[in-house]
Amino acid sequence: MPKQKILIVGAGITGIALAERFAQAGHKITVLEKRGEIGGNCYDYQDKNGIIVHKYGPHIFHTDNQEVWDYLSGFTDWHHYEHCVLGSIDHQLVPIPFNLNTLHQAFPAEQAQQLEKILLAEFSPGEKVPILELRQTKNKDLQLIADFVYQKIFLNYTRKQWGLEPEDIDPEVTGRVPILISRDNRYFQDKHQGIPSKGYTSMLEKMLQSENITVRLNTSYHKLPDRQTFDQTFYTGSIDEFFKYQLGRLKYRCFKFALKTVKQNSYQPVATVNYPNDYDYTRITEFKKFLPSTNNKTTAIGFEYPGDKGITGWPILNNDNSKILRKYQAEAKKLSNITFVGRLGEFKYYDMDDAVANSLAIFKKFNE
Ligand SMILES: Cc1cc2nc3c(=O)[nH]c(=O)nc-3n(C[C@H](O)[C@H](O)[C@H](O)COP(=O)(O)OP(=O)(O)OC[C@H]3O[C@@H](n4cnc5c(N)ncnc54)[C@H](O)[C@@H]3O)c2cc1C
Repeated sequence: MPKQKILIVGAGITGIALAERFAQAGHKITVLEKRGEIGGNCYDYQDKNGIIVHKYGPHIFHTDNQEVWDYLSGFTDWHHYEHCVLGSIDHQLVPIPFNLNTLHQAFPAEQAQQLEKILLAEFSPGEKVPILELRQTKNKDLQLIADFVYQKIFLNYTRKQWGLEPEDIDPEVTGRVPILISRDNRYFQDKHQGIPSKGYTSMLEKMLQSENITVRLNTSYHKLPDRQTFDQTFYTGSIDEFFKYQLGRLKYRCFKFALKTVKQNSYQPVATVNYPNDYDYTRITEFKKFLPSTNNKTTAIGFEYPGDKGITGWPILNNDNSKILRKYQAEAKKLSNITFVGRLGEFKYYDMDDAVANSLAIFKKFNE
């Protein structure tokens, strides 16, 4: 590929990985970001008490993708962190997702022993059984577990998270809520897990350190006068916003994230506690549990309130949105030299590792 002038719209992890790769290959890159900071939803910063907080909700890096892990490890060391979530159920904190330890906390000892035997006879150790699948069972004992998990852990959390009944949500999304046939309390089982040792923003800043990269903050694509003069554009903003919503609006589940400083060393036993059945928020996250801090007088916590407004969160995968997306994708095909990428550009749920893997693949395809 001859050396080009490339515009990357959006300084989230997708745009920054693209910028880094193309700059490293000798292309001249302009990264445009409408916010006053880089990092997209992964942006973090040190608060006035020296605690690194995630402005747009908790981000835990986890991956089985060796290439992505090695690539990012070129820009950061990692604080080894394995995410364990507790759920507040019937006034006690139990491991989430529901696993054999949860079973023993939630049911009387003898009954839990019996139910564990039945689960292990039906499923393989380590298996993840989607709750909606378990609900189909004809076995009365398994039904008991399925009803418990559905009523106490899944139903109200899902309603709060999505503002919808479970039946109206894409199974790809509800399939993410499993029962785990093991005593492993970790939320993720990926080979690599951690938090960048100086935070995500620091890692992403390092990725942008190249004489071939210019970053322009507080600048939206539509306000850039010379936007037509680039050889290639990679657009990681919303595809419907690019087309000025002419064919309809793609709907996201949004959320508000309320940060609070508390004058105590520790607020809760783990980084994240879920509240399926109480309060308007879904979970509270305590940031000191991600990265250690020398501050033992205060701690920083964040409350997550899903809703129709606020920070653009998760794409709502349904038929209406798929139809709108297909129309925009057809329009996008008519444009030359512009590629829509990332969670907003593709209207897709991407974890950070998938977003980076996607950027690495796109770079390889273009740079062949
Ligand atoms: C609450 C929450 C928690 C999450 N937790 C995890 C987690 O624990 N682990 C994990 O792996 N993933 C997590 N994710 C997913 C993660 O946030 C995404 O993988 C990641 O943000 C994708 O990056 P992106 O660059 O594609 O999009 P974004 O981060 O959204 O970046 C897009 C950027 O483009 C900018 N932009 C948009 N339009 C324009 C425009 N017209 N002009 C200029 N700039 C523009 C935006 O301001 C933004 O900075 C979470 C997501 C949410 C919402």
